[in-house]
Formats: sequence, structure tokens, C-alpha cells
Amino acid sequence: MHYLDHAATTAVLPEAAEIACKVMTEQFGNPSSVHKMGIEASGILEHARKQVAAILNADPSEITFTSCGTEATNTAIFGACRRKGRGKHIITTAIEHSATLNTVRRLEQEGFEVTYLQPDADGHISVDDLRAAIRPDTVLLTCMLANNEVGTLLPVKEFGKILKKKAPNALFHIDAVQGLARVPIKPKLWNADFISVSGHKIGAPKGIGALYIKKGVRIQPLMLGGGQERGMRPGTEALPNIAAFGEACRLRLAQMDENDAKVAALCAQLKAGIAARFPWAVYNGKSDIPHVVNLSFPGCKSEVLLRVLEMHDVYVSSGSACAKGKASHVLAAMKLDHARIDSALRISFAPSNTPEDVEALLNALEEGTKRLRRE
Ligand code: PLP
Repeated sequence: MHYLDHAATTAVLPEAAEIACKVMTEQFGNPSSVHKMGIEASGILEHARKQVAAILNADPSEITFTSCGTEATNTAIFGACRRKGRGKHIITTAIEHSATLNTVRRLEQEGFEVTYLQPDADGHISVDDLRAAIRPDTVLLTCMLANNEVGTLLPVKEFGKILKKKAPNALFHIDAVQGLARVPIKPKLWNADFISVSGHKIGAPKGIGALYIKKGVRIQPLMLGGGQERGMRPGTEALPNIAAFGEACRLRLAQMDENDAKVAALCAQLKAGIAARFPWAVYNGKSDIPHVVNLSFPGCKSEVLLRVLEMHDVYVSSGSACAKGKASHVLAAMKLDHARIDSALRISFAPSNTPEDVEALLNALEEGTKRLRRE
């Protein structure tokens, strides 16, 4: 199997799976219980919180566990915008994940005004556009760190600086789901009030995320219930997933440089193979991280090419896996023409990939594109 769709999801790291299994079958106490098993569970919870805080360069008290990246983002956006007596203007970008876009659209229906910053043809968002968009009634800037479809990085450091200068009461949320373990996370340097992350993109199970909430920032939770997660996210904690997420963060933080070098070499191998064997292919966006490569094979519908690759046990994505079947709103915002969007493939690496995976992809692409261009 040659899985090259890691921006969609990853396999669980064996070390993380082992911990999750132990927590499910042996250390299964409820962290709220006051007996010995509960205290043990609470220790596991706080240990994982420290591990997640470490990769986010945050204090453990700033970490709230959620069920996924989407929930973290919803909590931050609704929480920031529903503070009483604040303005009604939100700034975001046209290339956000639907977790952000659909949440701000809901607020738009409730009377908020939203400015969508547009990308250039390379998929980058301009600092000047942000500067021009900020208003005295801006309550929130929400944007991603790394784009999931084209791998561009947003200038979050500059964004945070400008936002806090021009609208000091506005809050700044960063969706770092695709940046986690690939880009060093620096909440203070970026002036971030909230950062969303997700476990299943870095080798933890699906169904676990976390929200960094800067010390001193107060928002209402999305759900009401018991006092778990200091009341920010009630409900009995998903301890097996949380423990596995902590372990994945620990491993990925420790191996970040080594993993980066590995992935950069795989990306270079892919690009050299593309140049040699498919000089007619066109890259979509200028990816700033080697983990995500998006390119079009004109004349080859990606949905069909995907099936040919699948027959070779090679797995990539057409556009965003979260936007199943829909034309990519990111590529559309970059103003690429329909034929190019229709033939776009996203290849996304994890450190577990090998040069053989890249070779298998190139070989399968050769057969697939030959066949589709003949038809
Ligand atoms: N944000 C980005 C940039 C993503 O790529 C994804 C998932 O694809 C999410 C948010 C949602 O994360 P989750 O699947 O944990 O809800």
C-alpha cells in the first residue's frame, strides 16, 4: 500500500495505539472519580495535556481537549464572536477549511459582517489586504496556518502584529491543524488567542483535537454539562484518544527536524520525477511546506485518475478530502480555470512514507495519464 494522502488523515502511530489500548482496557478510570483509578486517569489526562502544551509552546492550563479540530475551531469562533457588547465584524480568508467557513457563515446569518481575504494565484494571502480589512468593530480574525489543499503558509506572525495594533480588542484564532508537527507553533510570537489542532493528522486516532486558549481570554463554552476541561468542554474526557494524542505530540515534537528532512527529500524526489516524466503537469499554488503538493495533469480528470492510482494501491486525494465531490473552493479562489481544478491531485506526505511510495506513484501516474490522455 502506498498511502500519500496524509493531509486527509494518518495511520495511528504504534506507540500511540499501544497507550490508547492500555487506557481502554486497564487504566480505564474516569478522571473525575475520586478513587485510585480515577486519580490514575486524571494523571494520564494531565500528562497528555503537558505533552500537547509542549508541541504548542503553551502552558498546560491553556489546553482544552475537544473531539476534533472542527470542534476546537467552532469553540473559538463562536466563543470570540458571542462575547457581549463587542463589534460585529469578522475577518477570515477564502481558502479556509469548511470548519471555519461554515461557522463564520452561520454568524453571517446571525447578523455579523464577514470579510473574506482573497488569495493570489499562488495561494498566498496578503498582509496589506488584512491591514485594509481591519475595522474598529472587528471582533475576530480567523485564519489557517497552513492550507490543507495547496500547502501555502499564511503570514500569521504579521497578521497577529497588525491585528493587535489596529484592533487591540479583537481576538485572533489560528487553525493550525495542517501546521502541527510540521511548523513550529509560536502562540506568543503570533499574538494568538486561540489555536486549533487535531490528532488524526499527526498519528493519533480520529476524534481528538485541542484548543489553545491564551491565559486570561474568557469565552463561553459550546456545550454545557459537568465541569470537565475547566467547564470549557464538558463531557467525560476521551482518555484513550487524549493519551494517544499526547504521545503522538511527544514523538512528533522530538522527531520534527529529522521528519522534516525525510519529507523534504521525498518531495524533492517527487518533483524531480514529475519534471522528468510529466513536464506538461502544472503545479497549483506555491506550497511552502514539503508535506503538501498539488498539481494538475491537464486532460486527466482527477476523479478518474484517482481510481487508476487506486488500482495500483496508490492513494492520493483530488482537492480536499473534506469537500467530497465538490470543486475545490481553494483552487477556485486562486482563480484557476475549471479544467485545471478538475484535474488537480493533492499528494501529501508523512515521515512514514518511503522513496518506494514516490516511485510507485510516478509509475501509476504514467500508466494512468497515458490511458486517460488517449481516451
Ligand atoms: N482545519 C484544517 C486545515 C483541516 O485540514 C481539517 C481536516 O481536514 C480540519 C480543520 C478539521 O479537523 P478535524 O478532522 O479534526 O475536525
